[in-house]
Amino acid sequence: MTAPSLPQSLPMALTDAIIFTGEVFVENQALLVKDGKIVDLIHNDKVPDDFKITTCANHILAPGFIDCQVNGGGNVLLNATPTVKGVLAIAAAHRKSGTTRLLPTCITDTPEVMAAATAATRQARKSDPSILGIHLEGPHISEEYSGAHNVALVRPLSETDFQTHRAESGECFIVTLAPEQVTPEQIARLVKQGVIVSLGHTQATTEQTRAALAAGAKGFTHLFTRMPPVKGRSSTVVGVALDDAQSWCGMIADGHHVTPELMRIAVRAKAKDKLFLVSDSAAPAGADNPQPFDWCGQKVFPQKDYCVNEQGVVSGAMLTLGECVPRCIRDVRLDPEKVLRMASTIPAEFLGLGDRLGKLLPTYAADIVMLDHSFKTQKVWKDGEPN
Ligand SMILES: [Zn+2]
Repeated sequence: MTAPSLPQSLPMALTDAIIFTGEVFVENQALLVKDGKIVDLIHNDKVPDDFKITTCANHILAPGFIDCQVNGGGNVLLNATPTVKGVLAIAAAHRKSGTTRLLPTCITDTPEVMAAATAATRQARKSDPSILGIHLEGPHISEEYSGAHNVALVRPLSETDFQTHRAESGECFIVTLAPEQVTPEQIARLVKQGVIVSLGHTQATTEQTRAALAAGAKGFTHLFTRMPPVKGRSSTVVGVALDDAQSWCGMIADGHHVTPELMRIAVRAKAKDKLFLVSDSAAPAGADNPQPFDWCGQKVFPQKDYCVNEQGVVSGAMLTLGECVPRCIRDVRLDPEKVLRMASTIPAEFLGLGDRLGKLLPTYAADIVMLDHSFKTQKVWKDGEPN
């Protein structure tokens, strides 16, 4: 696949903000943007004449958010609408609050729906480079820990799946699976096909989890969620995920799916720069008028911060990453620098794109969010273009 073409905009200087580069906060610097990329950070007084100045006084500029797990947005659920139009609508709904790159995520469904979601995502990438690829969450997962997934559609990994679970050039392709449902050899084969294997919806033993990591699995999907609890004599998948220094963990960032206490524990326990935030959000995310929707056969209702089913049980996330970031800082009381890195720099590294996304440094894509002092998104640029 050829790389999507970038817009050619006028050189732009964003001045007078506090800039979080992805590494540190800097002051008195202007961010210079040309041809969709960051070209320099320079003193506010030294901006060249040919750069159009946009003043961002009293604001923070940070790298655009990167969300590796997005089930829906704008009242569109990928599983229900696995079309190019559906994928583009989801990306647009998330972009408003600062998500400049994302992986639309299709949960356990029929092979036809999952293939349609993959094809639609690939087609949509051609016109919208904010779409980095596809995340297939299932169907090779634990029946007991399937959560909202349709358990009737959970199935083993077959030879045919190796035809579809394969990354094309330039795209990210994540498959979330349970180690107890596959063999280490199958994981190694997927990895060889360019797939990022992430472990989730699983009750794997410590040994099974370690064997999956040794075979090339790169990380864990929504840490704590749909995993058995840790006990003194049983590390379970959560214990291995927190202990292992090489792998990455995604964690739902809304402050409800994982309690603030557990979020803080995870940040302290996991190896440096290996924990990142995901929205895992469903159809109502980023919608002006969030609507109830059908979530694998059950009716789900948006509340203020999350979705509930007809029994009132929490059933799905609905906040975008941009909405989660201020909550992680204010309510979960995580360090702003860490939160911004977990929402951008670290997922970029997990995806293998850390050399061009997730930082505001020369040569990086000009994916920028302007935040107010409560870290709420005020303005968004993707590839240097305002949203
Ligand atoms: Zn899940």
